[in-house]
Amino acid sequence: MAGTFFFQVVSPVGAVLTEDVQFVVLPGTEGELGILPNHTPLMSSVACGVVRYTLHDEVKKMAVSGGFVEVSHNQVTLLAETAELAEHIDCFRAEDAKARAEERLKVAMSMKDANDIDLIRAEAALKRAISRIGASDQGNKFS
Ligand code: ATP
Repeated sequence: MAGTFFFQVVSPVGAVLTEDVQFVVLPGTEGELGILPNHTPLMSSVACGVVRYTLHDEVKKMAVSGGFVEVSHNQVTLLAETAELAEHIDCFRAEDAKARAEERLKVAMSMKDANDIDLIRAEAALKRAISRIGASDQGNKFS
């Protein structure tokens, strides 16, 4: 198909997406990465956030919790720690995870001898939950 490139997303549970797409925007750790057909080769780490991609002229979303992307020969491969397509996200589960993470953060920050590891883990869980809510179809109805 003209004006497209191959985009595959793989997580530890398997292939999450394999499609010819028109455009991808990724949350690179150094800032947003916009990728069009015939992009110059690159490798980058990817942060926790929302990936947007254009498929058959429609913008779609997916949540990722970090990973690496390689762009080469009109192919984009994203190896993600976790990745969920918008339609597969359980928004209620993400809302629960967000509330638990916020509570853990509150408790950890109120303690004098707060454990850094607990804080980092709670912050990471909160970011994952926020990304899932941001990418999900249900989440968008309320935002
Ligand atoms: P939870 O506390 O709800 O398990 P978590 O952030 O700890 O959230 P992860 O460890 O990041 O969950 O993910 C575990 C697995 O569950 C992964 O395969 C991930 O894709 C999936 N997953 C996590 N949250 C959701 C969700 N809200 N909707 C759909 N799949 C999810």
